[in-house]
Amino acid sequence: MNYLPAKNRYGSMQYNRCGRSGLLLPALSLGLWHNFGEVDVFENCRDILKAAFDAGITHFDLANNYGPPPGSAEETFGRILKKDFSAYRDEMVISTKAGYLMWPGPYGEWGSKKYLLASLDQSLRRMKLDYVDIFYSHRLDPQTPLEETMDALAQAVRQGKALYAGISNYPADETLKASKLLGETGNHCLIHQASYSMFNRWVEDRLLDTLESEGMGCIAFSPLAQGLLTDRYLKGIPHDSRAAKPHGFLKIDDVSEQKLNRIRSLKALADRRGQSIAQMALAWVLRDSRITSVLVGVSRVEQMEDNLNMLSNADFSKEELSEIEDILAD
Ligand code: NDP
Repeated sequence: MNYLPAKNRYGSMQYNRCGRSGLLLPALSLGLWHNFGEVDVFENCRDILKAAFDAGITHFDLANNYGPPPGSAEETFGRILKKDFSAYRDEMVISTKAGYLMWPGPYGEWGSKKYLLASLDQSLRRMKLDYVDIFYSHRLDPQTPLEETMDALAQAVRQGKALYAGISNYPADETLKASKLLGETGNHCLIHQASYSMFNRWVEDRLLDTLESEGMGCIAFSPLAQGLLTDRYLKGIPHDSRAAKPHGFLKIDDVSEQKLNRIRSLKALADRRGQSIAQMALAWVLRDSRITSVLVGVSRVEQMEDNLNMLSNADFSKEELSEIEDILAD
């Protein structure tokens, strides 16, 4: 049966302006790093994407290397786009990135123009798209002049293969330089994709200030610390969890007793707020108005539904915020 998106799909989502740009992003975006590879169940991927779109999630984030194997998440996404979403491309913001290893030899990773533009062409072919909305340099290349990397992003935009340029994982100083260099090409650096969660707060030290002054948005990836900031690991390591999967980026050793203690204390607070740990963790990231969107991964539709309910209880009292600080410092 043909997929017909929910008619009321724009009824409850909140859309935030991405820096000083015309682009609005949903407060919650969906990432396809895990759970969309060739190793995953295709129909489950399809159900997740439909549920997301039905709930007003318009932004879908990919990268050349997502899988496994690398490239397969873009292929899965391309198949589902064709089957279910071909009439809705203009309602979607699709991003991809290049920076990590994709093919052998000297042109298969990092930040040269040679690599970035070849990789973007490959991504477009895998997703069967004419353009992506956002193309990112996935990581800073210390060996390549930043001018060249930014010129490659600008060229992708000039060629119409990307509408906007972004950077990911760049430290604050290099973010400022990248933004200025892109500006010199007549382009605006739209967005920085950075890790940010209760367990990983590096962006608070200068990066967010830099983004604000440059008029760039910030999309926070792994806001649930890959699933740790949920109830997933409170009773051991579930067999179907990311930590248990051989290809999962979260390792069993990451589920430490110290983290579990903090998660238990966070759960007590979340219970009092009448929400799940995941909902509280996402709302906490979004408490800073410089965060445009939280970029979440899910392995099933129920997790997505749980996360979406965060929007109905996203405010914190001063006391709650300081209780969270105390828990995280413990
Ligand atoms: P999260 O921190 O959101 O972790 C996702 C995992 O958390 C899920 O796979 C699931 O684990 C678990 N989970 C999600 N919701 C719930 C819930 N409500 N209850 C219980 N468990 C839940 O993000 P990711 O690490 O997946 O990253 C999100 C996206 O960010 C990626 O897909 C990618 O697009 C982007 N990213 C970008 C990077 C970059 O370098 N630019 C690096 C990493 C990510 P389980 O699978 O065990 O069920």
